[in-house]
Amino acid sequence: MNFSFKAMWQNKCPRCRKGDIFIKPLDILNPLDMPKECAVCSQPTEPEPGFYYGAMFLSYGITSLILLPTTLFLLFYVKLSLTLTFMIMGMMMVMMFLKLLRGSRSLYFHLVVRYDENFEQHKNK
Ligand SMILES: [Zn+2]
Repeated sequence: MNFSFKAMWQNKCPRCRKGDIFIKPLDILNPLDMPKECAVCSQPTEPEPGFYYGAMFLSYGITSLILLPTTLFLLFYVKLSLTLTFMIMGMMMVMMFLKLLRGSRSLYFHLVVRYDENFEQHKNK
C-alpha cells in the first residue's frame, strides 16, 4: 500500500514520510506556513501554484461527514434543542479547526505525491 495514514495524520512528507510539511512550532496567525521543500528529501511542498485548492473541497467533505450525522444524532436521537445542538457543533468546529485545516492539506498532498522508499537516490529530481 502506497498510502500511510500515520504519516498523513502526523503531517509528514508523503515522499519520505520523515520531514515535516508544516513549519514547527505552530504560529497561530499563520497556521498554513509550509517550508518551500521537505528538509529530508527536497520534495517541494507546493508542487504547482494553487495546488492546495483541492484541499478546500476535501475539508468541506470531511467536515460535512462529521457534522451532519452528529447534528442529526443530537437532534433526533438525544432530542436536544436546536440551540444547544448548534452550540455543541460550534464548539466541535472550534476544537477541530486546526486539525481539519492542516489535515486536509496533508491528505491532499498524500493523495497526489507517492511514497518513494529510495528517496535518497532520487533527491532533486
Ligand atoms: Zn520528504
